[in-house]
Amino acid sequence: MGWDFETDPDFQRRLDWVDAFVRERVEPLDLLPEHPFDKANARVRDLLRPLQEEVRARGLWACHLGPDLGGAGYGQVKLALLNELLGRSHWAPSVFGCQAPDSGNAEILARFGTAEQRARYLRPLLDGEITSCYAMTEPHGGSDPALFTTRAVRDGDAWVLTGEKWFASYARYATFFIVMAVTDPDAGPYRGMSMLIVPAGTQGLEIVRNVGLGGEPEEAGAHAYLRFDNVRVPADHVLGGEGQAFAIAQDRLGGGRIHHAMRTVGMARAAFDMMCERAVSRRTRTGSLSSLQLTQEAVADSWIELEQFRLLVLRTAWLIDRHRDYRRVRGDIAAVKVAMPRVLASVVRRAMHLHGALGVSNEMPFSAMLVAAEVLALADGPSEVHAVSLARQVLAGYEPVEGLWPSGHLPTRRAAARARFAERLEHAVANQ
Ligand SMILES: Cc1cc2nc3c(=O)[nH]c(=O)nc-3n(C[C@H](O)[C@H](O)[C@H](O)COP(=O)(O)OP(=O)(O)OC[C@H]3O[C@@H](n4cnc5c(N)ncnc54)[C@H](O)[C@@H]3O)c2cc1C
Repeated sequence: MGWDFETDPDFQRRLDWVDAFVRERVEPLDLLPEHPFDKANARVRDLLRPLQEEVRARGLWACHLGPDLGGAGYGQVKLALLNELLGRSHWAPSVFGCQAPDSGNAEILARFGTAEQRARYLRPLLDGEITSCYAMTEPHGGSDPALFTTRAVRDGDAWVLTGEKWFASYARYATFFIVMAVTDPDAGPYRGMSMLIVPAGTQGLEIVRNVGLGGEPEEAGAHAYLRFDNVRVPADHVLGGEGQAFAIAQDRLGGGRIHHAMRTVGMARAAFDMMCERAVSRRTRTGSLSSLQLTQEAVADSWIELEQFRLLVLRTAWLIDRHRDYRRVRGDIAAVKVAMPRVLASVVRRAMHLHGALGVSNEMPFSAMLVAAEVLALADGPSEVHAVSLARQVLAGYEPVEGLWPSGHLPTRRAAARARFAERLEHAVANQ
């Protein structure tokens, strides 16, 4: 029997340390105007460095990576338990060296990069010295590679890149960009695209504007509309070889999606805690909000949804550890991806509602959390695409029924049962 819902005591002690550290030392940073990805900013470095050193000293730095890359190689189940604690805070992933998109970029550089690419781009990324950007989505066609038009053409010892990318997160802080571009239009989207590494500041690379989320002030926008106008990059800046972009993108997203889900458990739990605190604190004429049955139902429903989702995430993490092949767990990851925004939005909306006017105001974090839920329904592909992918996989395991009636049709089953046991039934009647 392999089912076990307990955390081993050693690891639990580590988790307890992380929990207290994030709550007391990291969460307060979320209230400062500085951005953790702004590594060129001396104030940000001064805030990050001492905390990162403590995390390193405890062996908790970049735990999504194996020991060869400076991580603990914990595997996905332990990572899930750790990440759900980090999900409470916007700064925590940067303090623990596992922030997206750098984590995914580091993984593909480690896996597909040349020795030179790893030395120049991966090393400082792993050390938390720089920020990177992943530019795949295009403004006219979303993230469907079949619709991409950004083109790279070989010219001597360089690739020349032309086109536009949309919602490239943290481009304004990035030292380099990993850009997906068509390099062989005749080969189709799955073999005709390549990943190019473009250093920031390369001539012709322009941030048209930085787009913000929800009610963020204009200047706070961190998701870039990018333009490439004859941007030249050396020929050796292709990642993983020509035509490999689609395969690399798939590899990158498998891990990224489940890590977002682990952190979402933490964010949803933070909203749930606020809801429960409000329920027992706020008085009505007849008693506290928590004494009202509809409030109790909101609490119970939220608890159930959150625990169901957490178990789905942990089970998927366990499957990834077991198979060590994201393709075999694609359906499970798709299910997690679809459930993630629903559960977060559902818990946050109830928490927001129970806080009344304060809940919808900018004095509580719920509006930003609702936007975060919607972001999770879009980033790394819209929910519909994942729902379709899951359903197709599930349905592939079923055969059409022969004949008119479904296999669950009771009269047909009853007749078959009678025929099967006819001899015994006759024998029983004869002996009566
Ligand atoms: C906060 C945030 C950060 C992001 N960061 C990055 C990043 O760093 N790099 C990057 O490359 N991209 C990034 N993205 C982009 C993200 O991948 C896209 O938003 C997403 O793939 C959807 O593309 P779109 O926004 O153009 O929406 P559209 O493609 O216009 O889709 C809009 C809606 O149409 C429907 N739809 C679209 N396609 C289908 C389909 N095939 N089947 C069924 N329904 C469909 C869905 O309802 C979908 O929500 C980020 C997005 C957000 C919100």
